[in-house]
Amino acid sequence: MSTHIWPKPFNYFSNVKLFLVSLCVILSLFVIAVAYFLYSRTDSLLLLRVREQAAAYSDLINYSKLWNYDYGGVYVEKKAGVDSNTYLKKLGINPDVRAEGGRTFTMRNHAIMIKEISLRSEKEDGVRFRITSLKPIDKDNAPDAMEREALGQFEKGKNEVYHLERQTDKGPLFHYLRPLYAEQSCLECHRSQGYKIGSVMGALSVTIPVVTLIRETDTDKLMIVAATIGTIGLLLGITYFLTWRLVLNLDMAQKHLKRLASTDELTGLKNRRQIMKRLDEEYQRAIRLGEPLCLIMLDLDHFKKINDTYGHPFGDLVLKCVAGHMKKALRRYDVLGRIGGEEFLIVSPGTTREEAVVLAQRLRSTVEMEKIAYEDKKVTITVSCGVAFLYKGDDNVEILLKRADSALYIAKQEGRNRVVAI
Ligand code: GH3
Ligand code: MG
Ligand code: MG
Repeated sequence: MSTHIWPKPFNYFSNVKLFLVSLCVILSLFVIAVAYFLYSRTDSLLLLRVREQAAAYSDLINYSKLWNYDYGGVYVEKKAGVDSNTYLKKLGINPDVRAEGGRTFTMRNHAIMIKEISLRSEKEDGVRFRITSLKPIDKDNAPDAMEREALGQFEKGKNEVYHLERQTDKGPLFHYLRPLYAEQSCLECHRSQGYKIGSVMGALSVTIPVVTLIRETDTDKLMIVAATIGTIGLLLGITYFLTWRLVLNLDMAQKHLKRLASTDELTGLKNRRQIMKRLDEEYQRAIRLGEPLCLIMLDLDHFKKINDTYGHPFGDLVLKCVAGHMKKALRRYDVLGRIGGEEFLIVSPGTTREEAVVLAQRLRSTVEMEKIAYEDKKVTITVSCGVAFLYKGDDNVEILLKRADSALYIAKQEGRNRVVAI
């Protein structure tokens, strides 16, 4: 995977990568589930709200109708545009009465009153309601396809039908229907149609335009989607950022531990394990490529005496200083490590026997020249070096080590502060 997406340490902390991906998936699924719940709830809340509104209209119409019926119809003055109810005339009822003073009043029974209020309501704020019946006296009250279906359901015992029609010529509309059961008030006009008290004889149909509500709901939904995307983005971003930092810290800690495990605490040089590992690698390489390889084993002379004379802490300082001087005197590709108390090993790849002797001499004289201060005195330190060269037929690295050790032994035997090569 690209290093642009994953920090480099992710490649070896693959478990953390798996953890991060799983966490991101779980978090995203959780947020999506919550958003889906809110998104669906928005629609059901819209339906609930508009249904309550329609039911309230429906109740109001019913009460108005009953009010009218209780009075046996009400009279309104017959002025221009106020016609007599022709259906009453057909039933043999004269709807008009003449009052004293020459004014004429005409009767408005409940059916026509509802129709007139509905027309006004539709004109003013688009809410339409009407009484519809499968056997209408007024042809305008014949049911449309949806009302017919609702009437069928009322016959089967349902007492409410509603649905939202999103696309119509008049914009989104909410339809709400309630059954009308035959009562005494109805039978006066509808007895001949064979209805009995309590039977479903029609429905009260309410239609409410819901364009504003739909727009608000759609805005809410859009906000839910935007908030979901934002939340997921933020959560993933934070999770990724924190995990990134965790991985980098782990990487740093791991490198630090590795360094500790391979470094000599006092001198900061490679420790025995590490220098032996490097020696093995260089040995394999030299054998494979047929290149020269030299070892210098180096031991401080009479170091015990230094400890005894100046104390152990000074001895430590000497070890540190000698390590520092040697480091400076070495070449870039030489590898230096501390293999014992005051014993050091230098692995020098690609170096001939002569070059290695020169190098050992340089190390020896550097250490000798760089005196170390103790109070107001200067202490001279000397070292002995054993140089070993990898010969053809050396089939393991121990031979080389033994040879360097023997050379060092000879250097000590011959009086110290010298280089012996074998
Ligand atoms: P030689 O010339 O034969 O090598 O004599 P030497 O005294 O250097 O060798 P010997 O093996 O007798 O003594 C080595 C001493 O190094 C003994 C030990 O106390 C000391 N030493 C080992 N490690 C440390 C260390 O980390 N710090 C200090 N200050 N002394 C150490
Ligand atoms: Mg020594
Ligand atoms: Mg020693």
